[in-house]
Amino acid sequence: MKYFEKVLIANRGEIAIRIMRACRELGIETVAIYSEPDKNSLHVKYADEAFPVGEAHPSKSYLNKDKIIKTARQAGADAIHPGYGFLAENSGFAKLCEEENINFIGPSWKSIEAMGSKLGSKHMMEKAGVPVLPYTPEGVKSIDEAKKIAGKIGYPVIVKASAGGGGIGMQIVESEDGLEEAIEKGMRIAQSAFGDPTVFIEKYLVKPRHIEFQILCDKQGNGVHLFDRECSIQRRHQKLVEEAPCPIMTDELREKMSHSALKVAEVSGYYNAGTVEFLYSEGNYYFMEMNTRLQVEHTVTEMITGVDLVRQQLKIAAGEDLSLSQDDITIRGHAIECRINAEDPLNNFTADPGKIVRYRSPGGPGIRVDSGIHMGYSIPPMYDSMISKLCSWGMNRQECIERMRRAIYEYVIIGVHTTLPMHHAIMCDRDFITGNTHTHFLTDEHIKKN
Ligand code: ADP
Repeated sequence: MKYFEKVLIANRGEIAIRIMRACRELGIETVAIYSEPDKNSLHVKYADEAFPVGEAHPSKSYLNKDKIIKTARQAGADAIHPGYGFLAENSGFAKLCEEENINFIGPSWKSIEAMGSKLGSKHMMEKAGVPVLPYTPEGVKSIDEAKKIAGKIGYPVIVKASAGGGGIGMQIVESEDGLEEAIEKGMRIAQSAFGDPTVFIEKYLVKPRHIEFQILCDKQGNGVHLFDRECSIQRRHQKLVEEAPCPIMTDELREKMSHSALKVAEVSGYYNAGTVEFLYSEGNYYFMEMNTRLQVEHTVTEMITGVDLVRQQLKIAAGEDLSLSQDDITIRGHAIECRINAEDPLNNFTADPGKIVRYRSPGGPGIRVDSGIHMGYSIPPMYDSMISKLCSWGMNRQECIERMRRAIYEYVIIGVHTTLPMHHAIMCDRDFITGNTHTHFLTDEHIKKN
């Protein structure tokens, strides 16, 4: 079954290639789009057809909705896959696709809109009985009122942009003294980054774990979860290492959390692939947000379940029934993903774009590399610094870590600084090996030690 004739991939780099791979397996033709500096990129070469969509700045190319729709028309594509980032969680774009009669491979624009508001989605989940952290339900209306509520919630608190993403605008506030400044700064950042100044306050957990559930739902209302991922190894609130399953998961906790995750999907009328993110601390878990797209770290779920999530996305978007039942989906072994970023560890991990003069990717048992780079490739400075995703699979977590260490050793990327040495240090860290991690793992003693 082909599902579509021709799919336009409104993205670049590794994720564009990942999606094209699923299409190629199914005999679906692929259309790449590219910005000026990406004209020689791998995703352009991989596609059956490729069209320029504009200049380097994303607003002129990968975010240019009208141009992308026009290109889809011109190429005769019957569907668009947005990947992650760029337009993936832009409800306006999903709506535009619907109006233009082009299938958007993702949830409905209404779900994207509903989940795009951290505040709105928290309301919805609270009403449905899913645990949430104490917060200001109306957002922040005045400083005085915010001080009152924050006092009741108890410090530390976190100020977040309701429309936020990518950790942008989030600030931890230790006491009432810092609240006013954090709110004002948060509103300024939220307005300029997301065009919506709404911020809210939430209880800040000191050393939580980030645990998320992958779900898949069809348009007929059937839904399954594909177990959990642990994403606690982060820097600046951005994930660096993800694994599946979560190393501290128990049957009882999984039962409760997966039930909540599917509840989130049910009450929001969700379809296609999605991720429900929770914070976990001392036996309790709290809904944080739902990501209405394919995640960077979908790979580790694929490795432990054997389910091709992009293939499932295509199938669901075409209106097919979900052929997987919950009992069909089981966990086999353990998988870890390291996000390889072109960053300089000696310069506070700032992006280190440049030319790759030598490149050799690892292989062998249990290794998967999803990347958009190659020897001689020049990493453009204006996009994401993630250049590759290195994943390992093992029969158990220990074998998985051992394979990851071996693969990092094999991976040769010369010409730019990367996070590879840091990943090796994490894979050798005693606390990581025992699964004793939390979201401040890298800012605590571990980063200094390495
Ligand atoms: P974004 O959408 O900007 O990426 P999230 O709400 O998904 O932000 O949060 C990203 C990360 O920030 C989490 O994985 C966690 O590490 C941290 N975080 C967010 N909210 C809290 C909180 N209430 N307490 C502790 N850490 C938090």
